[in-house]
Amino acid sequence: MKTARLKGSDTAYTIGKILCIGRNYADHIKELGNEVPDRPVIFSKPASSVIGEGEEIVIPSWSSDCHHEAELAILIGRKAKDLAPAEALAAVAGYAVAIDLTLRDVQAELKKKGLPWDLAKGFDTACPLSDFVPAGEVADPQDLRITLSVNDEKRQDGSTALMIHRVAELISYLSSVFTLEPGDVILSGTPAGVSAVKSGDRLVAEIGGVGKIAVSVR
Ligand code: MG
Repeated sequence: MKTARLKGSDTAYTIGKILCIGRNYADHIKELGNEVPDRPVIFSKPASSVIGEGEEIVIPSWSSDCHHEAELAILIGRKAKDLAPAEALAAVAGYAVAIDLTLRDVQAELKKKGLPWDLAKGFDTACPLSDFVPAGEVADPQDLRITLSVNDEKRQDGSTALMIHRVAELISYLSSVFTLEPGDVILSGTPAGVSAVKSGDRLVAEIGGVGKIAVSVR
């Protein structure tokens, strides 16, 4: 079992569902040539895909195109179902930095065949995740700078202000489909600048006022 740590708290959250949002930043939709969706695109990663600070990414042998996607992660702190957007942020325990690692070649093949993305998104080590900061310490989750560097070269530099579907809307929508439970994590999508990583690369993803995570590729 994987655990989420909330800074300054003794409460350990066993990570449950990891619900991920695809195509939530217009500039990233454009760079992949996708269409802007009417509703949030949802997929998930298993909790077993989580790794922490300093751990290694292992790219499966059956891919040769693993991309980084830096994302704001949201930790659910209480059971929630059918929340209105106005009450959704009250269910958040904390925020963190995540990297949604994606086997782009495998995903492209699956998309072409109309198949689910699990192989491209859910492999072991596919979800580097920092510690969480308490929600109360983040004044506005829609005004955070989000960056990712590979070997000290900046690849992604965006802002959560550019999300198409905002955090409160995402939680509200997800809670209409799934009962959200303490320990569930939401990855809210990535801004532009995704690119491939290879063995030996060192990735640092950072969100101002939230934290950062550094991991390397085996
Ligand atoms: Mg993503």
